[in-house]
Amino acid sequence: TGKIANLTITFGSQTVISDVSMNLYKNRVHVLTGPSGSGKTTFLRAINRLNDCFADCYTQGKIELTIDGNLEAVHTLKSQQLPTLRQKVGMVFQHPQLLPGTIADNILLPLKVVSGMTGKVAQNKLSTALSQTTLWDEVKDRLDKPAQSLSGGQQQRLCLARTLALEPEILLLDEPTASLDPKTTEQIESLISELAQHYTIVMVSHSAQQTQKLADYIYYFEQGRVVNNSL
Ligand code: ATP
Repeated sequence: TGKIANLTITFGSQTVISDVSMNLYKNRVHVLTGPSGSGKTTFLRAINRLNDCFADCYTQGKIELTIDGNLEAVHTLKSQQLPTLRQKVGMVFQHPQLLPGTIADNILLPLKVVSGMTGKVAQNKLSTALSQTTLWDEVKDRLDKPAQSLSGGQQQRLCLARTLALEPEILLLDEPTASLDPKTTEQIESLISELAQHYTIVMVSHSAQQTQKLADYIYYFEQGRVVNNSL
């Protein structure tokens, strides 16, 4: 599904990613692991060009992804093409990034704006995505309540549901279980295994146990380089 070649990313004079190459495969979970500050999040964000928002960030190298069956040179996309890229390459952040508004708004608004989807079709998407992330039973009677009223773990699952509803092909997950309790962590881990049957998944994890459990490919980052990768 993807090929990242010789990616180097600098913030001002600091090199954060040095010459990293990686192949991405459909239906596989690629786990980026390694110490804090080694560049994992920066690498993940580069895949859907999110580092572009930093004025002092400079990216070199190639990122090629197969999207809708077409090979896209992500590194050359123009800014007006980025919203489509980011729909197809969905990202869930380490800290839940909710939209202001209700639980339902968080799924329905992006569906309307990005996919033009409204009405019953959108309602169906909402219930499917919330069920997928094991949140439906917990929130179905309070969809009109502020999303901020959810617990940290519920917020994280809502963010994942919002991303899934937009039907991406590639999922970027930055420590998706960082704020979850052990039981919910287990649920999300099973979900990630299931999702891998349909998506290409690239995720950051700090947990060796989780990495062993979920990874088809492991990339160990240290000071902006991949120092070890293994099956
Ligand atoms: P963690 O596991 O703690 O999330 P990480 O491996 O994901 O760490 P990054 O968040 O990618 O590491 O950060 C790598 C380096 O890049 C850090 O030294 C950080 O200070 C620097 N960095 C990240 N974003 C920026 C930015 N917007 N401006 C300047 N430097 C940045």
